[in-house]
Amino acid sequence: LQAVHVIGGGLAGSEAAWQLAQNGIPVVLHEMRPERSTDAHKTDGLAELVCSNSFRSDDAEHNAVGLLHEEMRRLGSLIMRAGDANQVPAGGALAVDRDGFSDAVTQALTSHPLITIERGEIARPRDDWDSVIIATGPLTSPDLAASIRELTGQDQLAFFDAIAPIVHRDSIDMTQAWFQSRYDKAGPGGSGADYINCPLTREQYEAFVDALITGDKTVFKEWEAATPYFDGCLPVEVMAERGRETLRYGPMKPIGLTNPHQPDVKPHAVVQLRQDNKLGTLYNMVGFQTKLKHAEQVRVFRTIPGLQNAEFARLGGLHRNTFINAPKLLDTTLRLKANTRWRFAGQITGCEGYVESAAVGLMAGRFAAAERRGEQLAPPPPTTAHGAVLAHITGGHIETIVSGPSSFQPMNVNFGLFPPLAEPPEFDRKSKLGRAKARELAKKSAISRRALTDLGTWIGAQTKAAAE
Ligand code: FAD
Repeated sequence: LQAVHVIGGGLAGSEAAWQLAQNGIPVVLHEMRPERSTDAHKTDGLAELVCSNSFRSDDAEHNAVGLLHEEMRRLGSLIMRAGDANQVPAGGALAVDRDGFSDAVTQALTSHPLITIERGEIARPRDDWDSVIIATGPLTSPDLAASIRELTGQDQLAFFDAIAPIVHRDSIDMTQAWFQSRYDKAGPGGSGADYINCPLTREQYEAFVDALITGDKTVFKEWEAATPYFDGCLPVEVMAERGRETLRYGPMKPIGLTNPHQPDVKPHAVVQLRQDNKLGTLYNMVGFQTKLKHAEQVRVFRTIPGLQNAEFARLGGLHRNTFINAPKLLDTTLRLKANTRWRFAGQITGCEGYVESAAVGLMAGRFAAAERRGEQLAPPPPTTAHGAVLAHITGGHIETIVSGPSSFQPMNVNFGLFPPLAEPPEFDRKSKLGRAKARELAKKSAISRRALTDLGTWIGAQTKAAAE
């Protein structure tokens, strides 16, 4: 069999290559690093996590991304296998040691007999490559972006995200800060005390908000004015500008936390830091993406009690995000309608996040493998998390999608992308959580159960087709 060419060895490309090879199809995986890098990548490892080390919630019953994790595990995902094997404690979230994770993915792909890894930038897929998966991510190299634009005839869309600073653990003053997960929630491998918390009084919070608003920011004239922020990743100073209380209801919310140094004084606001590496020597400031200039970040963040002597392993910053107008350009198996030899996967399709990108890579790999074998693989049902993400991207098979291609914006997986249940589920009307909450949890749980059942049917159909 002729090889399928996967361009980009990030979250999506690595998973796509793995799925192809596991389905018996030879793969050439092209990764431009270390020959050429991006503004965010630091290593030459495959599946490098460029910012947070979290795959977010691992709750497969009540959280859409947790459900996506579970579906990926059932589909033999390499990204989930490497993530599970390199977990660090993070409450109910699945967070990973970033180097251990990337090493595990690199090792698995390098040692697979059907995978060849070629280092070097691909400015344009060769004409004699009859099956290509483009998974070059939000920081696709400019030459390849130009080739894609040339073929699609579409102006590429772009917006920007911001990244949060990382602090050396031993520079945090634990006589002021303390370890605790919100509501003492213990996730997989966690203790219920996984986060470092820094408390602020009302006066400190007000002064902090002022410092954020007046702080010196980097200005990105070229594209800032024309491109909107992604709401899940707003810079902290933009949140502060939206209202003085916004942060207290967002990343600095003080609820579910008790300061053991002053148990009788309720903090007015709390900054949380989450473990960033297996050793526990680095902690990232949760929700503190920022475009403050580096010197300003050091000055302003050191006003947070506990961080007055903080040493930063990495400061925050802004980045560009490149994605195509997928609902208009792609078919339901992620092929470019204008040239069906090219498939797209990962963040460049307009999904958002590590897990979603890998899931789209997983689907692209399976679609390309079936095609190479001369089979047709139906898209996963829209009732599954994979199907819901795919429907968002391809604008396809869910009638409830209201946004047309012109308003297409990247989005994390969420229960709003799933078709509604045929009937409202039973729930405990006397629940201590209250009726509304109990109803909502029962609904999420029913959507998740339906998803896993329908995924099982989809997997079963593939197994049957392969056997025939
Ligand atoms: P990537 O993982 O970026 O992989 C693309 C790969 O393609 C790279 O290895 C790149 O070197 C390679 N490449 C690019 N062009 C070429 C070419 N022409 N030829 C060959 N190789 C090429 N998501 C989260 O869930 N949490 C976060 O905290 C988060 N923070 C982010 C911070 C930054 C700065 C950025 C840029 C993105 C962030 N994201 C975050 C989004 C994140 O990038 C994606 O979720 C995920 O990495 C996308 O996976 P991908 O495989 O599509 O792209």
